[in-house]
Order: sequence, then structure tokens, then C-alpha cells
Amino acid sequence: MNSNVGTTGSASPLVAEAKPMIDPFKRAVTYLRVSVTDRCDFRCTYCMAEHMTFLPKQELLTLEELHRLCSVFIAKGVRKLRLTGGEPLVRKNIMYLVRELGKQIGSGLDELTLTTNGSQLSRFADELYDCGVRRINVSLDTLDPDKFRQITRWGDFHKVMEGIDAAQKAGLKVKLNAVALKDFNDVEMPEMIRFAHGRGMDLTVIETMPMGEIEEDRTDRYLPLSKLRADLERQFTFSEIGYRTGGPARYVEVRETGGRLGFITPMTHNFCESCNRVRLTCTGTLYMCLGQNDAADLRAAVRATPDDGLLYAAIDEAISRKPKGHDFIIDRTHNRPAVARHMSVTGG
Ligand code: SAM
Ligand code: SF4
Repeated sequence: MNSNVGTTGSASPLVAEAKPMIDPFKRAVTYLRVSVTDRCDFRCTYCMAEHMTFLPKQELLTLEELHRLCSVFIAKGVRKLRLTGGEPLVRKNIMYLVRELGKQIGSGLDELTLTTNGSQLSRFADELYDCGVRRINVSLDTLDPDKFRQITRWGDFHKVMEGIDAAQKAGLKVKLNAVALKDFNDVEMPEMIRFAHGRGMDLTVIETMPMGEIEEDRTDRYLPLSKLRADLERQFTFSEIGYRTGGPARYVEVRETGGRLGFITPMTHNFCESCNRVRLTCTGTLYMCLGQNDAADLRAAVRATPDDGLLYAAIDEAISRKPKGHDFIIDRTHNRPAVARHMSVTGG
């Protein structure tokens, strides 16, 4: 089928084609992360300020509009879709979107996943499984309930633990994500590795990224994973494995536990060469790179017409602007965050 071509000699309407998304650096975009809300029931210190101003509700896309946008991306070659936030499970009626997208698994979509802080998992784990979700990421930065309260400000450690239990019981494969924070959880990492692997979960550690104004100075907490890894290698033996989950994590197998440990190193190792993803926010803004400010507004195209042709064109134009990589820097000479928006806008 040709793009935007009417048939000669007939009154057929213009037919727009859903072309695959290939960026200027020949990378195919096959992974969409959707931040379904910027709101959250936690206030993790590295992610948000305590008193956040959230988006006015009228600026949000409805769940039906988000579903339509996701379906357009699936038609354009997205095989893996991750719902995130803010906290995705605090968005009202979110299971409507999960169920609708779940119906597309096997016809276009290979996988539907979710990144969550775990606070609502005991309520939703069974339903997520029922909708076709098989793997989820749960963010957990510490195993100490007091430190958990300190880092999340509002979170309840025991509720998250119950959520993880419920998820595993429902049959969901759980991966833990921990942000590596100097003088906070670095000393706990061996225990976290043993805990995760003891329960059959992979653990991925992430470097802090300079996104959005927060109360504290990020340099104080920044811990290069090269340092963490060297420390861990004094008590664990790592073997490099080629295991990939379609994301930027590089995995090792920990001989002592038999489990997998992933490192996401946006700061110390630039992982952009293999970037296959774009990020959609709950207002319909498409970010082509987590670490850049450039974006495309898809809300206008969603609302202009029920015909998807306009959306295809807007997405193609946006993909043609996908940059080669990010410019994150954390040091004392760069006091402003590299990107003004908080991680909760694009969901990591
Ligand atoms: N609320 C959900 C959660 O916490 O899993 C989903 C959204 S949260 C923004 C996604 C991930 O981004 C979490 O694992 C969180 O720890 C991480 N994150 C938030 N701010 C970050 C930052 N400045 N640098 C690195 N990771 C960050
Ligand atoms: Fe909320 Fe996740 Fe940000 Fe923590 S990291 S404040 S749970 S969005």
C-alpha cells in the first residue's frame, strides 16, 4: 500500500499507511513507554520534590485516547509496551487500558509490562495477570522499613512487600529495580542481591539521572556503578552473560546466588547506540529521548480527527528528530538538572 495515495480515477478516500519507525541513525523504534499519570503516592527524594505541582486533570489524555495512541504505535511497529508513571496503578480505571492493550498481545504486540512502586500490587496483581501481563518491574531501593520511609517519604515498606508477594503468587515474573545511592543503599546491595535472587527475581541497579529540580543536591548521592560493581566483586563472582530484556541493562550472573544482576549506566556508559524506544506522556507529548528536551505534541493530532493518518504523519515527523543520544552530566559545575522535567513525567 502506498502512503497517502488516492486511487486514480476513483473517489476512494486517501489511505494512510502505518509505516515502521526508523530514526535518522537507522535504529528501529519498537518499544514504547507510556507514562499514564504524573501523579504518585510516593515522593522518592531523587525523583520528586515533596510538594509537587501536578498537571491539571483537563490536560490529561483520556484512557480511550491513550489506547488509541498506543494502538497507532503498535500499528507502526511497536512490539513491546511498558506502562509507567508517576505510579501507573494510581490512575483511576487504569485496568481498562491494561485490558484493552492486553487484547493486542499476539496480534502486533509481543509484550505488555509495567513499572510500579508496588504499593497497589496486592490489589491488582491477579487482574494484571488475567489481562496478559507476565512480567513487571518493581522499584525497591532498600530492605530497611525506616530507610524506605526516608527515601520514598510517603511509602510503606510492608505494603510493597505484600505487593511483591501477591505478584509472585499471581504468576507474574518480578524484576526489582534499585537506584544506587551513595551512603544510602550502597552498603545494602549484597543483602538486596541475596534477597532478590533468593526469591527468583532479577535485580537491576540504576544510576541517578539529573532530571527535574529536587530538594537535595544530586552530586551528594551520585554513585557511579563502576564503583559499586568493583565493591561487589570483592564478595561476589560475576560472569558476563549476553542476557538482554530489550532494555539498556547489561547483565551478569552472580555465581554465589545463581541469579542475574543488571546494571543501567546512563552516566558512566552511554547506552544510546542501541536505543529502540520512545516515551509518551499522559498529555500526549512524545519524547524521542529520555535525556533531551525535544518533544512532539500528539494530543492535537489525536483530538483533531478520528482518522489516524494525521497521527502517522506526526509520529513520522517526530521520529525523524530522534537524537543520537543524551547529554547527561552530574558534577559540581552543573548545578541545574540536564532535563527540567522530572522522571515521573516520562516514567524512566
Ligand atoms: N512509580 C513507578 C516506580 O517507581 O517504579 C514508575 C515510575 S518511576 C519514575 C520509574 C523508575 O525511575 C523507578 O525505578 C525510579 O526509581 C526511577 N527514577 C526516578 N527518578 C530517577 C532519577 N532521577 N534517576 C534515575 N532513576 C530514577
Ligand atoms: Fe513515585 Fe516512582 Fe517517582 Fe518514587 S520513583 S516518586 S514511586 S514515580
